[in-house]
Amino acid sequence: MFTCTDWLALHGLSESRVKDVISAFYAGKIDYPLPFISTDKEMPSVSDFISKKLPSQEICYKTIVVPALAAAFDNESKEQHLLCNHVELLSLSNSEEAPCTVCQGSGRSPGILMDWNGRAEDLLCLAHEAAHALQILLSEHELMPPVARETCAFIGELLLLDYVKVHLPHLHAALLDVWNSENSFYLGDCVDVLIDALNHSGVSYHYYQNYPLARLAAVQMFSYANSQSVSRLFSGGQGAMSYLPIDEMASFAAEIENPLPVFPIPDNEQPVVDAYRSLGAMALLDIESWRNASCQRIESYYLGLLKNLQARTAFIALDSDMKPVGYTTWIESSTENNLLLICQTALPNQRLNLQRTLEQHIRTTKGVDASYTRNAAKEMLVW
Ligand SMILES: [Zn+2]
Repeated sequence: MFTCTDWLALHGLSESRVKDVISAFYAGKIDYPLPFISTDKEMPSVSDFISKKLPSQEICYKTIVVPALAAAFDNESKEQHLLCNHVELLSLSNSEEAPCTVCQGSGRSPGILMDWNGRAEDLLCLAHEAAHALQILLSEHELMPPVARETCAFIGELLLLDYVKVHLPHLHAALLDVWNSENSFYLGDCVDVLIDALNHSGVSYHYYQNYPLARLAAVQMFSYANSQSVSRLFSGGQGAMSYLPIDEMASFAAEIENPLPVFPIPDNEQPVVDAYRSLGAMALLDIESWRNASCQRIESYYLGLLKNLQARTAFIALDSDMKPVGYTTWIESSTENNLLLICQTALPNQRLNLQRTLEQHIRTTKGVDASYTRNAAKEMLVW
């Protein structure tokens, strides 16, 4: 089975560097999203645009996507020639399948497989797939690690947004709307999949775990890199990971500090004081983690947590400086060895570690091995 360890090795990444990137992202240390804010008040609304279909796929490809992608390269005519003459536009055989770009071998044109309905999301998808095709051609069909190849594709989407903003401003709002809405998948659900894989060595590889690093790296490269580094990445083949700003993004994690005070040493003589201290720490964690707890009545918030503390169904995780980083509450189900998590709250950069610390706590105090399924992750409130 292909696991997270294989995935890390394939990309030349370490677990701690990937975790640092996620922590830095959660803590808001990585610049994101792009400043694609329109100031043009005359721009038609998204619904106006959606009611009008785009021209055919071929026209959009040749007149919008090709010039948008080629503009990123010094030698535009070479990339234009490759995109116009060495890429095949194909339809999906089954509309249930996801769009993709296939390398058909050296000397043959890569094929873009997707359905075209003339919508804004189709145009963004076409730019994504065309960037895959260009990366295959410029890398001379050498296989690129998935995170690097998805970074190329996401750069393609950003190039389209940039091109449209200047040359076809009436399309910009609708495309930006799609791009923003897709972030909730690439930097939401897909981060969950990546965290699951990092925390559970037995979870098998899923392609989604490539998207978060690629999405963030694309934004960084698009914002700060020059055309030479974009060109090096697209032609980088197997070695393309060395052109991604993973280290830079991971280094932002060093700037994150835990703002909470040190948790007092428990005092067995004064359990009531201990309970108040725990309640205080939980309230501070709810405030710092932006969990929407303030809408609850103080009485029910306080009584609910107190009940968990008395039943020993609450756990506060501390960092190495003994400062709180997250807490969890659960109920013990009547089924043997089964705990149902009610709430998990963690500081933005600590979500990654809370689940693992909780599993260790449950294993040592209850002698129960926390079982893990991906479906269970859906029940968690903050992941
Ligand atoms: Zn892709």
